[in-house]
Amino acid sequence: MSQPAAIRLSYPEPDIALLTFDLPEKSANILSTSVLAELEQHLETVAGQANLAGLVINSAKPEIFIAGADLREFVAAFGVPRETTVAMCRRGQELLRRLSRLPCVTVAAIHGACLGGGAELAVWCDRRIVSDHRRTEIGFPEVQLGLCPGWGGSVRLPRLIGLPAAVEMITSGESRPAQEAVRLGLASGPVPPERLLDEALALVRREQQSGQYRRDRELLEQPVAFSPTEWEFLGATASALIRSRTHDQYPAPMAALELMLETAALSVDEALQREAEVLASLFGTPVNRALVNVFFLTDRNKRDRGVDRPDVVPRSIQRVAILGSGIMGSGIAGANLRRGFSVVMTDKLPEALHKGARTALEEAAYDAAVRAPTAAALLDVAPRLSLVYRFDEFRDCQLIIEAVVENPDVKRQVFSEMEQIVAEDTILASNTSTIPIDRLAAPLKHPERLVGIHFFNPVRRMKLVEVIRGSATDETVVATAVAYAKRLGKFPVVVKDGPGFLVNRLLFPYMNEALELLLEGAAIADIERAAKAFGMPMGPIELYDLVGLDTALYAGRTMWEAFPNRVVLSPLLPAMVKSGRLGQKNGRGFYLYPPSGKAAGKPQPDPEFEKFLAPYRKEVKQYSREQLQQRLFLPMLLEATRVLEEQKVRDVRDVDLGLIFGIGFPAFRGGLLFWADQVGVATLLEWLKAWESLGERMQPTGLLLEMARQGKTFYGPSPK
Ligand code: NAD
Repeated sequence: MSQPAAIRLSYPEPDIALLTFDLPEKSANILSTSVLAELEQHLETVAGQANLAGLVINSAKPEIFIAGADLREFVAAFGVPRETTVAMCRRGQELLRRLSRLPCVTVAAIHGACLGGGAELAVWCDRRIVSDHRRTEIGFPEVQLGLCPGWGGSVRLPRLIGLPAAVEMITSGESRPAQEAVRLGLASGPVPPERLLDEALALVRREQQSGQYRRDRELLEQPVAFSPTEWEFLGATASALIRSRTHDQYPAPMAALELMLETAALSVDEALQREAEVLASLFGTPVNRALVNVFFLTDRNKRDRGVDRPDVVPRSIQRVAILGSGIMGSGIAGANLRRGFSVVMTDKLPEALHKGARTALEEAAYDAAVRAPTAAALLDVAPRLSLVYRFDEFRDCQLIIEAVVENPDVKRQVFSEMEQIVAEDTILASNTSTIPIDRLAAPLKHPERLVGIHFFNPVRRMKLVEVIRGSATDETVVATAVAYAKRLGKFPVVVKDGPGFLVNRLLFPYMNEALELLLEGAAIADIERAAKAFGMPMGPIELYDLVGLDTALYAGRTMWEAFPNRVVLSPLLPAMVKSGRLGQKNGRGFYLYPPSGKAAGKPQPDPEFEKFLAPYRKEVKQYSREQLQQRLFLPMLLEATRVLEEQKVRDVRDVDLGLIFGIGFPAFRGGLLFWADQVGVATLLEWLKAWESLGERMQPTGLLLEMARQGKTFYGPSPK
């Protein structure tokens, strides 16, 4: 017996066919081989019907039109010969081309996400009409997976909306919301979702009467109209922009640009063949595999409830109190307001509260398109923010997050006052970056209600949230924190309590190693370049300045207390702090930060630093870039294996997700452990051998040795 149908054929009017995508038991429609086979059959049926005025394609899912191709089938096809990939693309292109050549008008009625393969299907239709729902968007995110469109998107889109707009959409991978899609001429509308189908049917009628769609079909078969000067200008500006965004580490956007520039002047058939060939050249490459892995990491996170027991139900959170209105408190308040929560803010200093509230509102109303808060958004969020000076105003909040100074005594004091006031099921959370949750929970009457909810700075941009489970933390509290973080649009990773939790614990050995290299004679510029060439967004030395040398010194001591055998306490940090080099915050750390001028706030080499460093230098060694990278990333990897040995996280994927979204570990490497799998345990052990004289911090862990013995990888045989 065949599977239940993913596409239904019906006739809302006797001469108009309707294909409704509705994959059984799935929240999203995706284009797998079996769905494409169904579509093929339906197109045959429709093509055989004489006197049909039109075909409308829509979706029955609440917020998704078609989300793209089936990535699991992609992964299964990694490693097939290049010709097979070209042939796979050609088959998809042929199918959608058949749709575009049906004798009747074709209309995609788009409500919700119309992405990747779904957008390709839509652009092969004669017309597209969009709903005005906030989730309605059209996009070609293939480059974000290290690919380019493969079913005609790169050919059809420039012919529909012009080359510059198509280049921008496809090489950035960014979607266009409904209104924007209409402005680009990509769709008509937007119309309310409940009227979408009727409007699509009316569109069919209008097109059938005017016959305009036939004339447009002919136009769409022509090369793109473009002068050589415009072509050259577009090529130069777009490639410069792509280079500045990708640092030549992500090949797909440039490949997509070159493809579109080349095929604009070709016939549609020739252009489709080139598209298939370019896609095949990107398919299965290390970057493609890594980026697909990142997609699976995020997809898994979206489905993960953070607890293993299915009977645990998260509590509902509507009103959140935030204690402490500094950098983090205001950022957290902004994120909450942005996502519709009511927020109560306080601070012990009235001026800090007012400054924090202002920042919170600006963060909440920030519009990325104009890079500023908008008045409309400010009016929307402001009524949900209350500023209070008394804790008893927190009574009706379901969640209280403290973001006061990093001092265990102050935090404990705050929590014990809170306990006197709030209801028994109010959840208490700490945003601490270093203090163990168990230490804060110890004096509480109800330690089971305390959880760590560790946001990263700046809150609006950083997608990671660590949910720290103390030894007494209740399962429902963990599940609620996870569900809450997801409502804020974050990726929550549940981590067992411990020094540095997950991300800082792994970041610390990497940063510390940079200091050791400096003392061994490596130049700052070489260390920074090695990290950036690996793909890090900034070098570890600049990161020290950003974090603040005093904060780094404090964190370093915490790590040393926990792991004295392998943490080296560098004499450099206390010396720097003592001499007033605190980093970016006071304009002088490893670098100088001019207060004004062209380089204001940007790191500039400090000519006096060498002199400052000289007494601490142990030797002057020369290291190659590969050696520097090994020194920086092997300690991070070893620490990750210890985290796994101690079962601090529930899955290896949490480590990779945490580093990518917490510190900007390069996505094109797929994550630290994904990268380690590509390198291979045998090679990693060989690298470690070369550094064995450095002692315990470079010694292979039990897990690594065991993996080598059993021939295992971190991810197991194939990605889940
Ligand atoms: P901050 O100094 O900017 O803000 C702290 C605020 O708390 C100040 O406005 C202060 O007046 C207020 N405060 C102090 N004691 C108080 C009390 N008893 N009651 C009410 N308010 C009080 O500090 P921050 O950088 O926002 O850090 C806050 C917390 O977040 C710390 O635990 C820190 O470790 C953690 N954190 C910081 C970062 C970061 O990058 N800054 C990142 C993640 C987590």
